[in-house]
Amino acid sequence: MTKEKWEKFCPQCGKITDDLIDSLCRECFMGTIQLIEPDAMKVRVSMCRKCGAYFRGGERTSIEDAVVHIVSREIRRRYRDRLESCRVEVNQIVRDSGRTREIVTVTVRAEIRGVTVEQTGEIEVDIKTGTCNRCSRIAGGYYAAIVQIRAQDRYPADEELATAVEIAQASLSGEEFVTKQQLLKEGLDIYVSSMECGRRISRAIVKRLGGNFTESRRLYG
Ligand SMILES: [Zn+2]
Ligand SMILES: [Zn+2]
Repeated sequence: MTKEKWEKFCPQCGKITDDLIDSLCRECFMGTIQLIEPDAMKVRVSMCRKCGAYFRGGERTSIEDAVVHIVSREIRRRYRDRLESCRVEVNQIVRDSGRTREIVTVTVRAEIRGVTVEQTGEIEVDIKTGTCNRCSRIAGGYYAAIVQIRAQDRYPADEELATAVEIAQASLSGEEFVTKQQLLKEGLDIYVSSMECGRRISRAIVKRLGGNFTESRRLYG
């Protein structure tokens, strides 16, 4: 048996092996990987004190989603094309008193250069409280359209109006809201946050109660 003249070895620990990754042995290579870097993974969200919703930038989010987003973005930025896969899991969220900070325990499982590494660590989430756009608009009485419920040659029945209100509430999506409902002797005015949801509500009411709807463009200030 002849011994090879040039044996491959790990320059860090001296181990002789052919299995070198980025010129290090598997163990030393794994030792260089730091998936969770709390200082580079600071998460900042704001929380609406009225509705309790969380936001990152202008987007509605959750603590979990914000953490997963920031942690995986930083790992992708750091390992780029050496990263084959990455999965971030939130294990535990501990809220400190005052609700201005949360400590989130995450486990990251990543495959880098064919080596699977799993690490667990803590990420800090700073929470700024305020009032979200939707809640401040509601508080300010904002509306962009009025859905006017009327009957032809008669007054609408109470059941019809109740159904209309029910339909209006069920038609809302995302950030939309009903500002107020004004009962009049000839019917009901439903003030809503956008032209689009006004249209959607009108269509749904006509579909259920019959009749038709017309749209008038007006600017409300
Ligand atoms: Zn080594
Ligand atoms: Zn809110």
